This record gives sequence, C-alpha cells and structure tokens, in this order.
Amino acid sequence: MLEQTLAIVKPDAVRKKYAGSILARYEKEGFRVRALKMRLLSKTEAEGFYAVHRERPFFGSLVNFMVGGPVVLVVLEKDNAILAHRKLMGATDPAKADKDTLRALYGESIESNAVHGSDSPETARFEIPYFFSTTEIIG
Ligand code: GDP
Repeated sequence: MLEQTLAIVKPDAVRKKYAGSILARYEKEGFRVRALKMRLLSKTEAEGFYAVHRERPFFGSLVNFMVGGPVVLVVLEKDNAILAHRKLMGATDPAKADKDTLRALYGESIESNAVHGSDSPETARFEIPYFFSTTEIIG
C-alpha cells in the first residue's frame, strides 16, 4: 500500500553535512520526496512533537538537542514507507543498528542518532501535518 512517512534529518546530521547523503539514499531506496524544508524548531514545537515522551527521563535533553540546530523535514512516499523507512534507519542506538543503516552510518549516540521516522500510520497522521500544510505536499 502506498504510504507517506515523516523523516527528519536531525541537527547532528545536518551539522555534519550528511543531509545530502541521506536524501540521496532515500531516492536510491525508491522513496519519492513529496515535501521538504529546513527549519530551526522552537522549543514549543519540539516539545509538542515529542509529547509522547514527556515523562521519559531524557525528554529535556532530547528537546534541547532537537532545537540545537536546523533540521531537514521530509515527507517520503513509497509502498509500505513507514516500515521501509524504519528498517533503513536502524535501531535507536547507532551502536546497535544494523550495518549500512542510516543510524549506523551517520548516528553518534542514542540521542544524536541522525534521523527520525514515523513509527506507525497513526504517528505519521500526527507528524506529517505537524510540519506541513496540504499545499506543501506535492504529489
Ligand atoms: P525512535 O523511534 O527510534 O526515534 O526512538 P524513540 O521514539 O524511543 O525515542 C525518540 C528519540 O529520543 C530517539 O530517536 C533519540 O533521539 C532519543 N532517545 C531515545 N532513547 C534515549 C535515551 O535513552 N537517552 C537519550 N538521551 N535520548 C534517547
């Protein structure tokens, strides 16, 4: 089934100039880029985006990390895009991520792990409109 998912190139990866390589990998793996923008997130935006993690001990640190530099926000489309992107990302902790996944290649720690991806259709339905209006999604 054709699906859309939200990908974020996180501040660590943008800072290290990996954004181009990550976008190239998406195209190589057959994803279509349907929307794209660079943003510096506000604290309120980052807190709202990660609201499900509000009670986790790392929440404050995660929010500070996500507002620490620009991010690249991407809507990707492909058959089963959500699961395909999660597989391409690899495990949350880059040290545990499979070889050749984005987090193994570009992540540096469990927090600074290079990319975000929606983890379910329900999450994608929240995350895509969180950052993109319908007119910004081309396709
Ligand atoms: P994901 O779906 O693989 O991104 O993982 P989660 O939804 O569990 O966590 C969201 C984000 O919080 C991760 O991508 C990391 O950036 C960060 N994170 C997760 N676990 C930890 C942790 O134990 N410590 C810290 N500092 N950050 C974490």
